[in-house]
Amino acid sequence: MTDLLDIKGRTILVTGASSGLGRHFAALLVRHGARVAAAARRVSRLDELATEVQEESGLLLPVELDVTSTGSIDAAINRVEENLGSIDAIVNNAGIAVQGKALEATEADFDAMFDTNVRGAFFLARRCAARMIERGSGGAIVNIASAAGLIPMPQLTAYGMSKAAVVHMTKSLAKEWARHRINVNAICPGYIATDINSEFFSSEAGHRMVERFPRKRIGEPADLDAALLMLLAPKASNYITGAVLSVDDGYILG
Ligand code: NAD
Repeated sequence: MTDLLDIKGRTILVTGASSGLGRHFAALLVRHGARVAAAARRVSRLDELATEVQEESGLLLPVELDVTSTGSIDAAINRVEENLGSIDAIVNNAGIAVQGKALEATEADFDAMFDTNVRGAFFLARRCAARMIERGSGGAIVNIASAAGLIPMPQLTAYGMSKAAVVHMTKSLAKEWARHRINVNAICPGYIATDINSEFFSSEAGHRMVERFPRKRIGEPADLDAALLMLLAPKASNYITGAVLSVDDGYILG
């Protein structure tokens, strides 16, 4: 039987790989035999990850990348291509979330979220897609958006706006690059336990919020694995582009 989720030998760039979901995704993809460029601002934080996955079937290249800088994006892509060959797929995972009431949001926080979550994801996708188009290779782009980009979530107006932009970008780029065989899809996770929210979910307010979720629980990074593998595996997602896949345990149903 052919393995629908086969990503062996694919070169995949994962941003924000030094912690949380990005770290988890990078390790997952190496375990499935991919050649993973694990990108982060602090490369030293990737050393431990590189050791953790060294016995696995794929390989991991630590790459320095600040997605808010197009110079850094270009340097990172060059480093990946020199060391691992052409990039087949990217996972736009780097992101920041600053919680708070809209009336209290600072300009700096607003700009930081849009610079990272929207601008960073757009320019990385664009730079990689330009090379995929030039090579005629096709490719896959998976954007990690959020349930907050689909429905309003408490204290997350600016973050939600940035993720709604990622959702729109996904559909728009999917349409524009369909003829180049570049599939662009988004995953919208619900609440997944990582550094971005661990403080909140240990608080009273966090516990109260979980009680209101359809199944009164938050997710683990591994709950996103199948969706990610599907959208990166050429056989599984050959006919899927512009999709916005909620992986949220029913959260957005209210
Ligand atoms: P996290 O804070 O652990 O990870 C975010 C990563 O992005 C960090 O490694 C951080 O260093 C990196 N990053 C931030 N700015 C960057 C920049 N300029 N350049 C490169 N890297 C940068 O949080 P996480 O929960 O792992 O989040 C990963 C992604 O998933 C984010 O886009 C987040 O918005 C999204 N998301 C998370 C949840 C959740 O519940 N955890 C839910 C929905 C969406």
